Amino acid sequence: MAKLLSGREVAAALEEDISRRCVALREQGIVPKLALVRCGEREDDIAYEKSIRRQAARSGVETESCVLPETAAPEKLKELLEELSANAKVHGCLIFRPLPGALAAKQREICNVLSPEKDVDGCTAASAAAVYTGEGAGFPPCTAQACLEILDYYGINCRGKRAAVIGRSLVVGKPLAMLLTARDATVTLCHSRTEGLGDICRQADLIICAAGRPGLLTGDMVRPGQTVLDVSMNFLPELENADGSLGGFVGDAIYEEVEKTVEAISPVPGGVGRATSAVLMKHVVTAAERRLK
Ligand code: NAP
Repeated sequence: MAKLLSGREVAAALEEDISRRCVALREQGIVPKLALVRCGEREDDIAYEKSIRRQAARSGVETESCVLPETAAPEKLKELLEELSANAKVHGCLIFRPLPGALAAKQREICNVLSPEKDVDGCTAASAAAVYTGEGAGFPPCTAQACLEILDYYGINCRGKRAAVIGRSLVVGKPLAMLLTARDATVTLCHSRTEGLGDICRQADLIICAAGRPGLLTGDMVRPGQTVLDVSMNFLPELENADGSLGGFVGDAIYEEVEKTVEAISPVPGGVGRATSAVLMKHVVTAAERRLK
């Protein structure tokens, strides 16, 4: 049976550190503040916003919600991001993505208006460049960073190790491949056209699943000694819960199969997702500290 890599434990440890740093900032007259920019009323955005606000309250970070209609003109959203970038009381800004409706087509252009110093979820080109070069302002996307926080918390060193990252999105797979490379891992970045995924996974020491495909990582694709981080949050309406209710989240790994063989695995839920919102707070506090310096 594999060791469970608990995102809850990682988040609790991060929260302790963040709270301490928040107290130190408040003693210097600074209240770390996160602006939450939401366009439209999409249910998953609203649920995520609520959980961020709860997390912020626990950590001592102030939040401000800025809501525009889904039909807002791109210029209106850009104006808001310019205002937030110039507002000295705001240290970080999260834009709920993907942007809805017609805004989606201009997402990259819109996000780039945000000052990289406040880009706490790595959505600007400047943040991507910082992840790529290891220099400059900006932050990695919180989910990618959450994977590193889990590895650090459990003392899993990836130096010289082979890592298979499944998924090449700008939010998870690509930045994670860069961050792991910076830690001296040898990374294979896999995607839907990758041939021989099973062989690549079996050869890896670390497997990170971020494809959004339930059932993708099966028991015969893993071997003893490996660490598996499952980033994906796949909602299955037919999943039966312990209380008999229906509907729940699973990752890409078939947990019952994979955990029998590997050394360690993060669960879904309670894994990477749980650590991600704590990382968001860490980034806000870091942005506030950087400003102070
Ligand atoms: P995405 O933009 O849809 O990207 C999925 C990636 O997986 C693509 O690169 C795709 O390849 C690849 N892929 C799809 N099917 C594959 C297959 N059969 N074999 C190998 N690769 C395959 O998704 P995302 O935004 O990165 O999110 C991925 C998952 O992570 C989702 O379940 C999402 O809910 C979850 N997520 C979790 C958090 C968190 O905080 N825990 C945050 C963000 C996302 P191509 O490029 O070739 O299409």
